[in-house]
Formats: sequence, C-alpha cells, structure tokens
Amino acid sequence: MKAHDGMYIGGEWRPAAGPDTIAVVNPADEQVIGHVPAGTPEDVDAAVRAARAAFPGWAATAPAERAARIGALRDVLVARRDEIAETVTAELGAPLQFSRAVHAGVPALVAGSYAELAATHPFEEKVGNSTVLSEPVGVVGAITPWNYPLHQIVAKVAPALAAGCTVVLKPAEDTPLTAQLFAEATAEAGLPAGVFNLVTGVGSVAGQALAGHDGVDLVSFTGSTAVGRQIGAVAGAAVKRVALELGGKSANVILPSADLAKAVGVGVANVMGNSGQTCSAWTRMLVHRDQYDEAVTLAAAAAAKYAPGERMGPLVNAKQLDRVRGYIEKGVEEGARLVAGGPGAPLERGYYVSPTVFADVTPDMTIAQEEIFGPVVSVIAYEDEEDALRIANGTVYGLAGAVWAGEESEAVAFARRMDTGQVDINGGRFNPLAPFGGYKQSGVGRELGSHGLAEYLQTKSLQF
Ligand code: NAD
Repeated sequence: MKAHDGMYIGGEWRPAAGPDTIAVVNPADEQVIGHVPAGTPEDVDAAVRAARAAFPGWAATAPAERAARIGALRDVLVARRDEIAETVTAELGAPLQFSRAVHAGVPALVAGSYAELAATHPFEEKVGNSTVLSEPVGVVGAITPWNYPLHQIVAKVAPALAAGCTVVLKPAEDTPLTAQLFAEATAEAGLPAGVFNLVTGVGSVAGQALAGHDGVDLVSFTGSTAVGRQIGAVAGAAVKRVALELGGKSANVILPSADLAKAVGVGVANVMGNSGQTCSAWTRMLVHRDQYDEAVTLAAAAAAKYAPGERMGPLVNAKQLDRVRGYIEKGVEEGARLVAGGPGAPLERGYYVSPTVFADVTPDMTIAQEEIFGPVVSVIAYEDEEDALRIANGTVYGLAGAVWAGEESEAVAFARRMDTGQVDINGGRFNPLAPFGGYKQSGVGRELGSHGLAEYLQTKSLQF
C-alpha cells in the first residue's frame, strides 16, 4: 500500500503539524519502503479534540447501529485481506502465509466478535430496585506495539467502538502502514468522522503526549513493561482509567503422562511463530527429569524445521536483533547448552536469527526469567509436580501458559494452581471470546470478548 503523508483526524487525512517523518523499513531486506509523519503533541491534541467532539453522538447511537458499523469494518478487513497480509509482511517481515492466516485473519475474527457483542450485550440490567446502566468511558488513547500490528489495534478499537467510546490511536513506529490501512478501513466502513483517529509518531513524543492528555479518559497500552509502568504512573496521577498488556515468560508444562512428542512439537511451534515476537509465547518448556534428554532431542529437531527466510521471518528491527542475540550470548555465558541455533547471523541480509533451543537451563538464569522476544526456547528439568509448579510460577510475569497430561482433568488441576491469565490444555485452540491478559507484572485488565468490552464501560445505578 501507499503511505499517507498526513494524520487521519476527524474523518480526513490532514497535514501533520511538524516536518519530521519516520522511515518504515522492511526487516527482511533492510530497505526503506515508505515514510510516515512523526506526530507532535499538536497533532495529538487535534486528534483528541476530534474524538471528544464525536463522542456524544457516537455514545448516543443505538447498540445495533454500532454493531452494524463494526460488522461493516469486519467486512472491509475481510475484503482487503491480501493487502493487509502484504503490508504486515512488508513492515514486520512475517512470512506471507502467516500474515494471511494470523495477522489478517485474526483481526477480522475479533472485529466480527465485537459486532455480535455490541448487538447482544446487556447495556442495561435490573439489580433489585436498581437499574444499572453500562455507559462508555469516553475518549480512549490506544497505544499499540508492532508484533501483531493489526490484531493489537482491533483488540482495542473494536471493543471501544462497541462500548460507544471514540478513539485516538498511536501505533508502533515500526508498523505504521498497517495502522494507516486500518484508518482507511474505518472510513470505508462508514464510521462517523472523529470516532476513530490516527496519529503516527514516536513513543516518547506522540505516545507520551497521548497518554498524558487531559482530554483522554482511558489509556489502553500494549508493549514493554518499562513503558507500561510509566503510563500507569501518569494515568494514576490523573485518576484516569488504564489497561496494560505487558510482557510474558510463559511456561509450557509437560507432565509425565503427556504425549511428549506432541507437547514438544506444538510447544516449539508456539515459540517460533512470528519469530518468537509473541508476548504470550511459551518460552520455558518444563519437562520431567526422566524425559528430559528425549524432550531436548525432539525440541532441537522441531526447531530445525523453521528455516530463516522461509518458514521463519526476521525480527522486526536491528535493535530487537541485537537484544535477542545479547540474550542468546548471555544464556551461553551463564552455562546453558545450545542444542539448536545460536547468536550468529543465518543470512547475509535482514534481521534474522536462527531458531534457538537451550538445554540445561536452570530457573534462575536470565534467559529463564526475562522476556527475550525472539525464537528462543529454554528447556528446563523438574523433579516432581510441586517443583514444576514452583518453576512455572517463579517469574514476575503471568500472561499465558500450557499444560499437557494424559488426562485433561490432570492438566486442569495443575492449571488451576498457575499464576497466569490464560492456559491452553493439551493444545487447546485460540478462542477470540476468551479474556486475555496478565496476572502479576504482565498487566492490568483484559482484552477480547465481553471482558474486553467491560474495560471500556463504566456503570451508573438508578434506584427506584
Ligand atoms: P515499547 O513499549 O517501547 O512500545 C510499545 C508502544 O508504546 C509503541 O507504540 C511505542 O511507540 C509506545 N511508546 C514507547 N514509549 C512511550 C512512552 N514513553 N509513552 C507512551 N508511549 C510510548 O516496546 P518496543 O520498544 O516496541 O519493544 C520492546 C520490548 O517490549 C520487546 O522486546 C518486548 O519484550 C516488549 N513487547 C511486548 C509486547 C506485548 O505484546 N506485550 C509487544 C511489543 C513489545
């Protein structure tokens, strides 16, 4: 797609307030593929004003009308699926097939789920002698990362629109073209002017201006824990609602009764998808001591199937490449054993790293504690179930996880004791209606389904 040189504010593409631009780079070949404007606080202010002006009208529309617009938005995302996939591949580097299935497919599914929820959600309920009204929170400032560029946008914008909120989006610097394409889609879907607004720009300028703007009632952020902490502090000081989706270091717990080959194979695939740039990835594989050597051999063989440049794309940028390589070097330094991959560059061009598997990882090593955000799996041995639980719960994060066992009930019993927001049982499938979000430092709040909608509503009780 062609890059826009303005901001999408109040239903039109307007010239940016400042002259600065951001170069968009294809991480597969390191070529610049376009430029977008770098927003200033002035652009953010204009966008918040437009969202504020549009709010009363949008909040007053019947839920069925909002549902119809979100349904139309879903239809545009479906109709433009190829273009979305090509755009995500161009700026994120994901293989085209993965972009079509996941980066373009999932947002259409999520938008569809909110078209339905907007139409069916009880925005009014009776509680004894009271009527409880669910009303939109107001103007939402949405700040999104690059790893699932369209999904992260839709997971905030669709429920906000369903609730009756209006939105200003500040997308990640690395993937602004996908965000511009989404802005086009909102126009095509017939959303009234000002209901959705886009300001591209740098996090420390445009993002910070949006998070701290007086005219924003709720900030919804997905990204690093460091920035999330800052945004939470600013929102707290202003007594403003905030939702934070942050990092993860999820455990894939393989109990002795499980189908080991399947659990290892699915576990490795879970990490290698999107080049390991998934906050909910099961980057720690926990295996019983007696099955450890077999699991390590299986994991190394599974990783070898993800050839860089073919089944596995590059990392998003040079900074992430340095960061991931740094973690791999740190793993070696701290005594972990490389059984697949390593820090070397597998291809001459592009920000590629090899699919990497570490064995002999102990729970306290840096690579077992910190979020790497690359295609790196750490295989950790446990002695018994209590030990597995201690290791699984032994990080500051709690976003996702998996448990595998011969009987579902055995896996569920273990999952109940995990400090984490989502657990897949024996390879359970993605559910766009299931709440997604973190325990502990993985975040505050939930996205998706009716729980995601509730984030954008506030309640008022009328007594009779
Ligand atoms: P980041 O937190 O810096 O960026 C996320 C978003 O926040 C971007 O839109 C960015 O422009 C914006 N931002 C940055 N600084 C800001 C500020 N001071 N005020 C307001 N907005 C600001 O994340 P990153 O640099 O893109 O990635 C760094 C690490 O974050 C990754 O290695 C990974 O560990 C983690 N991460 C997590 C997720 C997730 O889904 N939880 C997604 C992306 C990255």
